[in-house]
Amino acid sequence: MNTPPARREVAREHRWNLERVYPTDEQWEHDFKLTADFAAEAAARSGTIGESAASLAATLEMIFAHRRVLDRLAVYATHRRDEDLSEGLYQDMASRTSSRITEYAAATAFLRPEIFALDDSTMAAWLLRPELTPYATWIGYVLRYRAHTLSQPEERLLAMAKEPMAGFRRAFGMLNNTDRPRRLPTIQDGQGETRLTNANLAKLLESGDRKVRADAFSGFYDELRGNVDTLSALLDGEIRTHAFEAKARGFASCLEASLFPDQVTTAVYQSLVNAVRDARSGMHEYFRLKRDTLGVRPLRIYDALAPMDSAAPRAYSYEEACILVLDALAPLGAEYVENLRSGLASGWVDRFENRGKRSGAYSGGSFDTFPYILHNFNGTLDSVFTLAHEAGHSMHSLLARRNQPFHHADYAILVAEVASVTNEMLLFHFLKHREHDPCSRARLLNHLIGDYRATVFRQTMFAEFERSIHERIERGGSLTAEYLSESYFSLVRDYHGSAFDFDGPDLAIQFEWARVPHFYYNFYVYKYATGMAAAIDISRRILSGEPGSRQGYLRMLAAGSSRPPLVALSEAGIDLESGRPMAAALSQLPGLVEELRDLVLA
Ligand SMILES: [Zn+2]
Repeated sequence: MNTPPARREVAREHRWNLERVYPTDEQWEHDFKLTADFAAEAAARSGTIGESAASLAATLEMIFAHRRVLDRLAVYATHRRDEDLSEGLYQDMASRTSSRITEYAAATAFLRPEIFALDDSTMAAWLLRPELTPYATWIGYVLRYRAHTLSQPEERLLAMAKEPMAGFRRAFGMLNNTDRPRRLPTIQDGQGETRLTNANLAKLLESGDRKVRADAFSGFYDELRGNVDTLSALLDGEIRTHAFEAKARGFASCLEASLFPDQVTTAVYQSLVNAVRDARSGMHEYFRLKRDTLGVRPLRIYDALAPMDSAAPRAYSYEEACILVLDALAPLGAEYVENLRSGLASGWVDRFENRGKRSGAYSGGSFDTFPYILHNFNGTLDSVFTLAHEAGHSMHSLLARRNQPFHHADYAILVAEVASVTNEMLLFHFLKHREHDPCSRARLLNHLIGDYRATVFRQTMFAEFERSIHERIERGGSLTAEYLSESYFSLVRDYHGSAFDFDGPDLAIQFEWARVPHFYYNFYVYKYATGMAAAIDISRRILSGEPGSRQGYLRMLAAGSSRPPLVALSEAGIDLESGRPMAAALSQLPGLVEELRDLVLA
């Protein structure tokens, strides 16, 4: 195996250009010193909000100006840290910035209660004043929380309870990331002995060697099974904290409480579950095709990720990946493509792996910096799609930051995942159009259907499970290992279908709930499923040249948080409450599976 180079050996053109943020660490230190007084300056405004519209406007202006500087400092420190996680200097700068941001948040905590204290008629009159109109939408978002905010002593108690209540999540993290990995067995993977980890399980289940898949699966789940009573108690405790907080704040349910910040209704959640349930047969058909292609009977749950061909995958150079992505995004218009082209050429991206670099990929930056991309490009098709995905986030940031003031330049995850996956969809259609080799076409189709499986079906299955465990606690029940395993297993059977026969070794999949960190995040994963469904629908309409579809989509990107997420999505013609985008996206699946069947069984 090749060892990746040290950070200092990485050529300049392959690095992101963080010198644009601060040319030197000394200049960062200089700016950091200036922020020492921010908390005190802001705290001095406490008690002045109610004086006049001008006073409220001046306070908001100050707070947003401070945050802009803090964001910029944080981008430099965290992005530098991620270049080489073993570099203590940047760890230190990042943690100093994060303490300062926490201190600042505490110093400005007076803002909300003082806004809530203003009576409605005063606020209505103030919002018409020119100094406050730029902040009217933002203040409107804040005021939504008034009905769910308690008296100051009650709020103090809730704040004090936060840390002990986080104990369940911390204990889960310890067990899952530290204790369990120590006890996981090693297996033979063809290249020798490999110790199983949470991270390499999926990779091993993608192995072309069925014995490796079977051993990895049973090794992992045999160990997990021995922890399920502890893990059920932790999940039970965590869900009770969600129920406690939702009830304390006067929400009808945990689901309603967790959808509140995005202004999403429970109808969106229900529409997603209904649409995916109605379309399950398309995914079942895919698994039957997988069974026939692999020639195994019965198909086992550890075969679900097995590759359908054994040909060596094609490798892409980074330059080639950029050209493909840019060409694929042409339907979004020349301006979008030009902005991205110049960004990719001028230091947005940290391209390749080096020793100590953070793994995976993300899109970062802040209002006053490039929308940087951390990548670990490795020449695979997945890696090209990741570039398209992160470029979607970065272009979303660029457009929102250019078109909105600082306080509306952020956007909700619900909208963010639409921007990134739309790019992936455009890349898929572009590559499919120019690819004539049956093997490559099959691989592309497999890639997309794999995304449907992982993003739409699996996340919706999680979403259903999450809702049912919250409802059980809300009805006064409890989450025992037996209950969790039984209800999880019945969902797995529903979502996977009859290609599997679900006895023998497959039975162990009933314990999978015990290893999923997302169940501690409080209704989060559904956003991946709605995001992909919306993106499939948007890209289809843009590619078919539907009048106004491209412009509407670009307006959604430019909106930032100046409109609530569902309203921003409606600019792009997406009505998540109706469930239509989900149904439209899912209606394409049977055709894709059919096309794949013709290619692989030809
Ligand atoms: Zn993303």
